[in-house]
Amino acid sequence: MENQNSNQNNPDNNTGGGPDNNRRRNNRFSWIFCLVAALFVVFSFSYMSKQMEQSTLREITYSEFIDLLEQGKLSAIEVQPDKERIVLTPVTASVDYNSNITYYTGYFPYDTGLQQRCEEAGIKYAATYTDKTVTILDIILSYVLPFVLIYVVMILLFRMLTKNGGMMGSVGKSNAKVYVEKETGVTFKDVAGQDEAKESVTELVDFLHNPGKYTRIGAKLPKGALLVGPPGTGKTLLAKAVAGEAKVPFFSLSGSDFVEMFVGVGASRVRDLFKQAQSQAPCIVFIDEIDAIGKSRDSHYGNDEREQTLNQLLSEMDGFDASKGIVILAATNRPEVLDKALLRPGRFDRRIIVDKPDLKGRLEILKVHAKNVLMHDSVDLEAIALATSGVVGSDLANMINEAAILAVKEGRTVVTQEDLFESVEVVVAGKEKKDRILGTEEKKIVAYHEIGHALVTALEKKAEPVQKITIVPRTMGTLGYVMQVPEEEKYLMSKEELLARLTTLLAGRAAEELVFGSVTTGASNDIEKATSIARAMVTQYGMSEKFGLMGLESIEDRYLDGRPVLKCADETAAEIDHEVMELLRISHEKARELLAENREPLDKLAAFLIEKETISGKEFMQIYREAAGTKEESKGEEG
Ligand code: ADP
Repeated sequence: MENQNSNQNNPDNNTGGGPDNNRRRNNRFSWIFCLVAALFVVFSFSYMSKQMEQSTLREITYSEFIDLLEQGKLSAIEVQPDKERIVLTPVTASVDYNSNITYYTGYFPYDTGLQQRCEEAGIKYAATYTDKTVTILDIILSYVLPFVLIYVVMILLFRMLTKNGGMMGSVGKSNAKVYVEKETGVTFKDVAGQDEAKESVTELVDFLHNPGKYTRIGAKLPKGALLVGPPGTGKTLLAKAVAGEAKVPFFSLSGSDFVEMFVGVGASRVRDLFKQAQSQAPCIVFIDEIDAIGKSRDSHYGNDEREQTLNQLLSEMDGFDASKGIVILAATNRPEVLDKALLRPGRFDRRIIVDKPDLKGRLEILKVHAKNVLMHDSVDLEAIALATSGVVGSDLANMINEAAILAVKEGRTVVTQEDLFESVEVVVAGKEKKDRILGTEEKKIVAYHEIGHALVTALEKKAEPVQKITIVPRTMGTLGYVMQVPEEEKYLMSKEELLARLTTLLAGRAAEELVFGSVTTGASNDIEKATSIARAMVTQYGMSEKFGLMGLESIEDRYLDGRPVLKCADETAAEIDHEVMELLRISHEKARELLAENREPLDKLAAFLIEKETISGKEFMQIYREAAGTKEESKGEEG
């Protein structure tokens, strides 16, 4: 987005079909084309008019002419010595006279008595000399003026056709949106977290700065690097930072810009792009979403256009002279679908992983974006970073912005911690849906469901503490939710922790069953999540006794949705289902037991939530302790 804006500000940069050089060349071509075409039209017209004049003349012999004269069939003659002919005007009634045809005969200068014979026959006699001197005006009027007129019309027509990639522009010529930034203004400081990725590209910066240093020693320079990672992790930002650090121009376009309906267009765009880049070397060329053209060619659904474009890209990458200092960076979140030929040495031989940020990374990203926003002193970005596990850089940038907007809405001049937490909720669960009012019964069910989750979380020591519970509906479809904040970021999960997570997820449904004796649709999301965790435990983590350490699933599209694909026989798949079912059943039972044992805190907490709609972690723990305390006491008394 930023990219496009900056170019809109500077229309010269947005070449939309090539840099200045290219445009000048195209212009020159159109001028020459129109010149030749106009000359052709003028000369064809003059030739055609001569031909037409010829077709209206008819020559007769001199003796025929004398016969006509003597028979009195002519009314006048005109001698034209310079054209060596005598033009005849017949008496209409006497000859087969066609008024569209001019009759003439050759001029015979030795017939000196012709004039006298005419006088005797009473025929008008005239002699004319046409002025043979050609004036400049004649030339202008008969050749230059028509030529200029036709030329101008042609130029206008040509411009109209090629404007905005019109008919002629769209076929064959590159009108892909190449965004060129002379200076991106982005540096490594703007890219927070991604330390390993930055380290990998630092070398590229040095190479762009001083290619000679590498070529002198005989080192082959890298031609391209592939940035791999989930969407929003800062791949584009990193590519821009490389250009910014090296202070070289940044060409960027998306893989899908190459591919068009017409076969061959993409290939010509690739050629064009490389030509442009070479004319501005050293520079960075950034191709976003390269999987749009770089998909493996052996897939069953071949596409001529895409394959040609890919072939062209491969040959251009082989062909260009890397010592000039051109680096091609490409981004993708589906590296596994890319054609192997793209990844071999000499092309995108480096793979730089730009993964989701860890706790430290998130904190740094928050700091980078918080720099430009007025924050209250009490703001603790670390707490926000802790609460946003699994979130990518673009979401974090968005959260800071949402918080600032929220503060303005509330009439504050600085952003507070509450604004930040609210914006985390907005990004994760959507905005509060004020117009959706839950009925009393529904509200009660949602409250028990959410308290069920939270209470089991608190009871299972291994689960994370609760930050906040709310039953205000949100725009992303949730009717209520429990926000959990881990005390620290974890990279490993033990089997016990995963089982605790399953119990927590199924506790919402368990609470509904326990209190209302029936169930609702509200648990669908919990069931989905719990099932996928249980399935992963069986098929990927080797946590089921039945299958032991057998890997039964592999992950596809790791950087997108991480879809698991089964790799086993149908019978095994059926057994996996049984195993998963059993895990879920045990967890559900456990959740029910835990809630039944803690019915009093469950009722008290739900009553509070129904009344207030939101309950903080502190309030929750206080009510829980009080209720649990009374239970302990009453137990003691009974004893
Ligand atoms: P991608 O190309 O991986 O989809 P982008 O580079 O377009 O992601 O990131 C989008 C925005 O998210 C950036 O403009 C930036 O504001 C923010 N962002 C993402 N990652 C980071 C990061 N590591 N540091 C700072 N900002 C980031």
